[in-house]
Amino acid sequence: MPAVFSGQVAVVTGGSRGIGRACVLALAAAGADVVVNYVNAAEAAESCRAEAAALGVRAIAVQADVGDAAQARRLIETAEAELGRVDILVNNAGIARAKTISRMSIEDWDDVLRTNLSSAFYCTQAAIPGMRARAHGRIVNIASMTGQHGYVGQASYTAAKAGMIALTKTTALELARYGITANVVCPGSVITDMSSVMSEEYRAGLLERIPLGRQATAEEIAASVVFLCGPGGAFYTGAELNPNGGQFM
Ligand code: NDP
Repeated sequence: MPAVFSGQVAVVTGGSRGIGRACVLALAAAGADVVVNYVNAAEAAESCRAEAAALGVRAIAVQADVGDAAQARRLIETAEAELGRVDILVNNAGIARAKTISRMSIEDWDDVLRTNLSSAFYCTQAAIPGMRARAHGRIVNIASMTGQHGYVGQASYTAAKAGMIALTKTTALELARYGITANVVCPGSVITDMSSVMSEEYRAGLLERIPLGRQATAEEIAASVVFLCGPGGAFYTGAELNPNGGQFM
């Protein structure tokens, strides 16, 4: 692939595993210097960083809980200090707590909202001044198909993801004049650690509901991110991309 992102710096929150890791490696393969953010999995983050660096780009790993405003700001400031700028921000970090509304604790609600939704606001806010100064920026939020239609047992998760879709549109409206685009990717089910908790019986039922008959790979979701950040995505802002195998249309 030609180095379309040569000279650009990409920050991927939750870049140590799953979809985030695939985004880091796809952006690095296309020439971007990359920041691998993680919260706990230092070893996985270092392995992703090393794999990206082996592609010939600058790569650093930064531990930060992006659900905390000060730590999210430190992440962006570290990227700017060590790699010089942030051109691409992929707000991907996320957790899920499967509980019905009746059983969900306030703590579970708050944790999911701050990790999945507030994090995107914090990182976006911190990245805006640099992007504005260069009159260029690409923000991609990773929401979920479940944020488009609701899901039993996922009140906090679906509320956060629906919030992320709305946040993306407001970000797009506010920042278009500065050359900054904001788009949201709403994946269906993807093969990662997050989705590995489902039973085989549940998975079989799920596959029946997906017209393409399978889950996505993390790399297929990363391809949407690369598209939105590259020349082909330049006229997209406020858009939802739906790599969901036809499960919701
Ligand atoms: P994984 O569980 O595989 O990875 C989650 C990533 O998020 C890890 O890198 C983890 O870091 C990081 N993370 C979690 N909490 C924080 C935090 N507070 N601060 C910084 N990083 C954090 O998840 P997926 O790859 O499956 O999911 C990635 C995104 O895609 C999520 O937003 C998810 O909601 C969304 N999504 C996933 C789908 C799926 O089927 N898998 C479907 C639709 C959307 P660490 O490694 O340190 O724990």
